[in-house]
Amino acid sequence: MPQARKFPSSLETDPTKVNELLVGLPDVTVLGAVRHADDSVELHIQTNASVDGCRSCGSVATLKGWRVVTFVDLPTFGSPVSLRWHKRRWRCPEATCPVGSWTEVDERIAGSRLRLTDRAGRWATVEVGKNGRTVNEVATVLGCDWHTVNDAVLAFGAALVDHPGRFGAVSALGLDEHLFVKAGERRIQHFVTALVDVERGQLLDLVPDRRSEEPKRWIEGQGAEWCRGVRSGTLDLSATYRSVFDDVLPDARLVADKFHVVRHMTTKLDECRRRVQNETLGHRGKKNDPLFRVRRRLSMAAERLDADGRDKMLGILRAGDPRGDVQAAWWAKEAVRELYEVADPVLAGQFIDELITDMADRDWPIEVRSMGRTLARWREPIIAWHDLRISNGPTEAMNNLAKRIKRVGFGFRSFANYRIRTLLYAGKPDWSLLPTLSIPG
Ligand SMILES: [Zn+2]
Repeated sequence: MPQARKFPSSLETDPTKVNELLVGLPDVTVLGAVRHADDSVELHIQTNASVDGCRSCGSVATLKGWRVVTFVDLPTFGSPVSLRWHKRRWRCPEATCPVGSWTEVDERIAGSRLRLTDRAGRWATVEVGKNGRTVNEVATVLGCDWHTVNDAVLAFGAALVDHPGRFGAVSALGLDEHLFVKAGERRIQHFVTALVDVERGQLLDLVPDRRSEEPKRWIEGQGAEWCRGVRSGTLDLSATYRSVFDDVLPDARLVADKFHVVRHMTTKLDECRRRVQNETLGHRGKKNDPLFRVRRRLSMAAERLDADGRDKMLGILRAGDPRGDVQAAWWAKEAVRELYEVADPVLAGQFIDELITDMADRDWPIEVRSMGRTLARWREPIIAWHDLRISNGPTEAMNNLAKRIKRVGFGFRSFANYRIRTLLYAGKPDWSLLPTLSIPG
């Protein structure tokens, strides 16, 4: 006679209990399952809550009937799962009670608002918000549509990014505009303003458009103590953002972002090149025009050109730039770059003052004089960099992340959705909170 096999006592062998163990939902009974031809699984459950009380009068409710509600659950053994929850319909037996009847609720399984189960919704939020997967990818894994996943990510995501502990005191605040492309037939371009903790490299928030009202309201909304903690502010060369700081954070020391300062000078150089091109040849740059051939070398950092490249550039310039305007603008752009090589703040101050005086000379082309006026207007914020050495660099990194979000998540219906998606990815939410957060029903 063959011996009965012995299993470790920790091994569950009762088929019903194995079922419950695999399904893993709290206090439910598995009623049955179907595996469809497409390999998706339909799983029927009910809760073990066989009694309920009226929330108004406390009477023991009577069972009125059943209502089967379908949810998208996590996949099982690689197959998408459709969860059919047989919900009890209860009725209050008291004729005078205003409550009447209701359907059972168990937020641990699923809320009433989303088509994903609670656990599938939280999982989707991590996949999309933290791991940067596309909504489409996650929807394919779950066997549901884009909106079902997106709604869940936004609901759990809002709870996470608007949690009051996401950020605290900020000593260096950066303001930066970035482009938010609204999807749709006309693909209208909108700008949003990013508020960034430039020391921690954390995106604090996004507010609509690039005017001053919204950033001001946001900053003031953080309270007086928070505002007092902001010691410095970084910004591009934008008068609007400068007015935000002047109005609501007047004690913060402004730092003009180095990248934007140099880019501004490169833009002026480019304007000069196009003007001279037009004045000398009467048309926009074409392939064999000297100034068109030299345009990339002009915008490169001088030290990235070797001696040959530099000679070649100057040679081509002589052919296309008879009055030397473009060459002058190139030297001016390089002089501003050199300003950032000066380590000592006092020397940097002397250097910028010389540049401002020098570039005001009426012999220079208009673009160089314009560069000089910008240096004069922004003298203090430009020189402040030499003391504080902070830049919007982290903001730029945020923008790159945000662009990725834009690619993966086109079809946003509103700025609010875009804000949540971007903050999940770049706003450093505390992901350890996710299992504990409840979402409004
Ligand atoms: Zn009642």
